Amino acid sequence: MKPYDVYSIFDIEIVKASGITLWDKNGHAYLDLYGGHAVISIGHGHPDYIAAIGNQLEKIGFYSNSVKINLQDELAEKLGEMSGYPDYDIFLCNSGAEANENAFKLASFYNGRKKIIAFNNSFHGRTSLAVAATDNQGIAAPVNKTEHVCFLPLNDCELLEKTMDESVCAVIVEGIQGVAGVNIPSAPFLKQIENLCHKYGAIMILDEVQSGYGRSGKFFAHQWADVKPHLITVAKGMGNGFPVAGILICPQLPAKKEMLGTTFGGNYLACAAAISVLDVIKKEDLISNALRMGDYLTSSLQTVPGIKEIRGVGLMTGIEFDEPCSEIRKELLFRHSVFTGSSSNKNTIRILPSLTITKAGIDMFVTALKSSLVSKKNEILYNSK
Ligand code: PLP
Repeated sequence: MKPYDVYSIFDIEIVKASGITLWDKNGHAYLDLYGGHAVISIGHGHPDYIAAIGNQLEKIGFYSNSVKINLQDELAEKLGEMSGYPDYDIFLCNSGAEANENAFKLASFYNGRKKIIAFNNSFHGRTSLAVAATDNQGIAAPVNKTEHVCFLPLNDCELLEKTMDESVCAVIVEGIQGVAGVNIPSAPFLKQIENLCHKYGAIMILDEVQSGYGRSGKFFAHQWADVKPHLITVAKGMGNGFPVAGILICPQLPAKKEMLGTTFGGNYLACAAAISVLDVIKKEDLISNALRMGDYLTSSLQTVPGIKEIRGVGLMTGIEFDEPCSEIRKELLFRHSVFTGSSSNKNTIRILPSLTITKAGIDMFVTALKSSLVSKKNEILYNSK
């Protein structure tokens, strides 16, 4: 047997990691500016995190949701307090797609409706309705095609107002569009979604799978716009690499037995990992660091010639060029040993480092980027001779 060949991969074998550094099997070090799709929030191999998971494993790693798991209560209490949603409940699951899938179910159970509004260039996952609400026909199979989802342009308040009515079950929007290349929903647009959802009895779902957990310089990116969604989905940074996800659910949507469920969701190890992430974020004041380092990254990038646009808040940054950037990313990786992220906007590099990053890490990246852009310019000049 061999792994199913669905991923485009770099021929690099990473065997060790610490903080924002990765090492390959030959002992070569790389700077990690991507955190494996925005997953590494508190840094690779954080000692508190390793201890928390190790200690838990010695006690018990798994039992099903047929018994009381106290760690779920501890996680809920800490997350409620740190995120500013102490009166919400949490349903724990395993991935971002599963969180969004269950969010749609909750919305539809609540108001009995089917129509979902999503936005152009959105990404919500690869399962049934999550992929149907993702604006990428290439990754939806015929069985995922549904009449229930309607896509609108992001930040078009007028069109949203015209489209909303009593048939809408839910509106789903990313706190910051990530896969698309870092597009920010405006505060008035998020306010408009909130108002229209309240007016028509629809459910507002904030997908904070990528933008949440402090990355934006607030616990959730939507908190910059001062809105309060009914449902908030989380994953990625929540477990710093341990698969754990969840939906924060407002008090208006009461639980009924059996309405949702999962075998692995909320297991002891996942809770231990997620609690440790919150403890480290608090102890090391990482949300403030994300904001400070995000500002530093943006101002440093402003000194780099050849960039068309810099988008982002905190440590979720899109760097757009006038042309496709895959060669720049390869140059960064293979010549300067820096991992960065791609996006569906082929001209945009995504930067999603651990929230622990320092000025020194950012300086290394900016120096490498400047040098990559110079090499690329020289290559164009050379080829045109
Ligand atoms: N939602 C957003 C905003 C994402 O960026 C992603 C993954 O990139 C998902 C949902 C899906 O998460 P997962 O891959 O854990 O299913």
